[in-house]
Amino acid sequence: MYKLILFDLDETLYPRSAKLMDAITERINRYIADQFGVPLEQAAELRRRFRSLYGTALRGMMEEGYPVNIDDYFEYVHDVELDGVLTTDPRLREMLLRIPLRRAVLTNSNIEHALRILRHMGVDDCFERVIDIRALSFRNKPDPLSYRIALEMLRVEPHEVIFVEDTPINTRAARAIGMTTILIECPPSPDADYFLDSVMDVGPLVAQLLGADGHSTSSEKSAGTRPMHGADVPR
Ligand SMILES: [Mg+2]
Repeated sequence: MYKLILFDLDETLYPRSAKLMDAITERINRYIADQFGVPLEQAAELRRRFRSLYGTALRGMMEEGYPVNIDDYFEYVHDVELDGVLTTDPRLREMLLRIPLRRAVLTNSNIEHALRILRHMGVDDCFERVIDIRALSFRNKPDPLSYRIALEMLRVEPHEVIFVEDTPINTRAARAIGMTTILIECPPSPDADYFLDSVMDVGPLVAQLLGADGHSTSSEKSAGTRPMHGADVPR
């Protein structure tokens, strides 16, 4: 039986079209360029390599021995405008509160950024816990250890969790350890169980999953439930 729904933050709880991550990515490039004295194009290349190898640019810098002050890094890269970028949508709050499961957030970002975003969107009190990169000792998604630490903190087993994300490598790893996975704004692939166009579709899908038999399990899922696209979910 599902007990908890775990949401990624960036570009999951708000749409990619907000372009907030574009602004943050631009600042990560600038940070790397300033810090290491390289041109912006080279900094962007480094960031892409770090992200694909380690999941985040920060982890990449740490793993490869680049000097980085973590507090300074987060303060710099998250110094972005939210007004006019992210809107407060009461329907998101309603949808979240209607999900009859425990709710939490798991982010590769830091808690200050996460709470700022959640407060701006008016949904900070919709989650019992926000687990950030510090709480994970900088073990970020998709490192399987990050999931194990998070689920231990939340006192749930993987098969009891519905995980909602926008990054396929993150759902792939979560699915591999037994979580039910929902990818937002991604084409169907073997990386997740379900595919939705918008986080607003999560509520109806979860209602279907819970309503199917009230105690869906990962074994039933792997026995042949076909991936569902957003268009199939009643709105
Ligand atoms: Mg994300």
